[in-house]
Amino acid sequence: MQVVKKKPQLNNYVLITLDSCRYDAFIKAKPKTMRKLGKVEQRWSYATWTAPSHYNLLMGLMPHTSPANVYASEYYKKDFVRFNERLGTDNIEFKSLIPKMYLPFFLRDTMGYRTNAMVSLPVLNPKTLINSGFDNYKLMDRHNDMRAMVREMTFPEDKPSFYVLNVGETHYPYALPDEPPDQWPRISGVHGIFKHLDDHIVGGKLLVQKEKHFDRAKLRTLRDRQIDAVKYLDRVVEELLDKVPKNTYITITADHGELFGEDGFFGHGPVQHSKVFEVPFVEGKVR
Ligand SMILES: [Zn+2]
Repeated sequence: MQVVKKKPQLNNYVLITLDSCRYDAFIKAKPKTMRKLGKVEQRWSYATWTAPSHYNLLMGLMPHTSPANVYASEYYKKDFVRFNERLGTDNIEFKSLIPKMYLPFFLRDTMGYRTNAMVSLPVLNPKTLINSGFDNYKLMDRHNDMRAMVREMTFPEDKPSFYVLNVGETHYPYALPDEPPDQWPRISGVHGIFKHLDDHIVGGKLLVQKEKHFDRAKLRTLRDRQIDAVKYLDRVVEELLDKVPKNTYITITADHGELFGEDGFFGHGPVQHSKVFEVPFVEGKVR
């Protein structure tokens, strides 16, 4: 592994994935606090569901901007040097990650970070290969409680901290922590595969044609629930901003989008549709 010269004061770095959050749901929610971090960009995820998308993110490849007439290799290089701004250094390039090509190892072993992950979706549980190079890695007790994550975060001064927070309020059924599970919405013919919230196979052309009108109304409700989840999370992010030290850089994005009935699709995963790739992206240093 290439040795990168360290600067004395590196930023803490917090990478947040709002699971399944579509770009347009984020925009409709008008999240005041999250927008303070920087310009909200429309980006595209590299994958349509949780596990490959997080693997990709942890290789240091954020959702992309999809520029025309640019070689992929040039794009990777250019996008990756943004890590210098995120971490507060100036000598990181994509090849700095060779040979493991995995951000947690690079941050821990080369840059001296304490590496932490708190995840909401069981498909990212601590026994999976995603958990490599982390000092601390936790599957949260509940799939939809970002506030519990914020409460558990600590920033000891001996080392800079890296956190990955996989947030589940924006994942189906878009439930906030104070909503009793027996009041969560159910989609006819769909909820069975969600029952463990394991995010294995969560998409496809699953709408029940006989109940078209009923389902359309329900899908609108579900889309509105995701928007409401973003509004709620904006308040939790405010608590996060109050908690983190000043030298902290935060990236907020999503691992993939979600379909709410467009062209007959619902969910994400085995879905080939532009909406499943559209994600919000906003980042900046906490002031
Ligand atoms: Zn996901």
